[in-house]
Amino acid sequence: MEGEFHMKYFETVHKEGHEQVSFFFDPGTGLKAIIAIHNTTLGPALGGTRMWNYATEQEALTDVLRLSKGMTYKAAAAGLRLGGGKAVIIGNPKTDKTDALFRAFGKAVNTLGGRYITAEDVGTSVQDMEHVSEETTFVTGIDEAKGGSGDPSPLTAFGTLQGIKASVKHKMKRDDLKGLTVALQGVGHVGWHLAGLLKQEGAKVIVSDIDFAACQRAEKELGIDGIVNPDEIYDVQCEIFAPCALGAIINDQTLPRLKCQIVAGASNNQLAVQERHGVEIEKRGIAYAPDYVINAGGLMNVYVELEGYSQERAYRICSGIYNNVAQVFDIAEKQGIPTYQAADRLVEQRLNRATNLSPRFNASFARGR
Ligand code: NAD
Repeated sequence: MEGEFHMKYFETVHKEGHEQVSFFFDPGTGLKAIIAIHNTTLGPALGGTRMWNYATEQEALTDVLRLSKGMTYKAAAAGLRLGGGKAVIIGNPKTDKTDALFRAFGKAVNTLGGRYITAEDVGTSVQDMEHVSEETTFVTGIDEAKGGSGDPSPLTAFGTLQGIKASVKHKMKRDDLKGLTVALQGVGHVGWHLAGLLKQEGAKVIVSDIDFAACQRAEKELGIDGIVNPDEIYDVQCEIFAPCALGAIINDQTLPRLKCQIVAGASNNQLAVQERHGVEIEKRGIAYAPDYVINAGGLMNVYVELEGYSQERAYRICSGIYNNVAQVFDIAEKQGIPTYQAADRLVEQRLNRATNLSPRFNASFARGR
């Protein structure tokens, strides 16, 4: 049984192309963590630390392998000098957190000498990262007051707006959003800022959220143009559907209902089944801006923190999302492939080019150095 587990483990790591997977156990604090470095061709592997009550250690391993690979793609598509990595801490984020646990985790991160840089993620907070930062400089997403980049959602929204503009240019041959209708799902952190930006661009914005009070606030404070029930957002007659709430919202049930020309929003993992729904959405004549390309603003924001945070520089880098999304549409058109595949091609092109040009990573490229 044990042998079988190891066989599968090495097979999986090899298949997905990970460079290094490290297991950390600290009996004093109860820390059980796995750090997966997927690829450092473009730079040090950056990715958040997820704390989750995984049912099994195998489940934790599967998650960290999948998430770290995703980070390689996200960073490369963003055009950043970063690789992909991720960490998981096995435990209940509500009951198992201690300051010492995160300091022990910080020591673990430090042993990797800068090949991996951590940040917050599901189940971890800015405060947890402060404890990590007591033991290592290879941490980002620190509090604004301490030189960190703070809440990434305004930057994510700004980047998403650039991706929407690139999608409109591609699909509708237009340079502006004046008079276009956007159906926006979720007015949380990102959706709220995006709604405000869209209004400034002269778009008509219809929103839905399971939190009705948030919709009402958006109506009052941002002047959005309408509210629909959460399930009705897919039926809104519009040019752009912008998902900013949930994953897997492009699926068998929603696709036939969409009345838009473009899907471009900040949610992660929008296609329920990549291969099927990524093809189906194209067949329906809808231009899909791949999620990990359009929602990279938050990652760009922490990237800027590594070199000493400047909001102005963060916005400048984020405006590059327009070109990244435009390039994806271009590759898709030239190669006759769906955009979700074109995004992967863009990443592979950038990785291949870099493999031939640069050293694998630069450990001095970390916060505070
Ligand atoms: P958030 O939790 O602040 O906002 C999500 C909003 O969606 C909430 O207001 C929630 O009530 C609403 N919601 C939940 N279920 C809904 C439903 N069925 N219909 C309508 N609304 C619903 O999260 P966020 O930080 O704004 O992130 C939104 C999405 O963008 C997530 O998928 C997230 O992974 C992704 N994302 C966020 C960032 C960032 O910088 N925050 C960066 C990259 C990607």
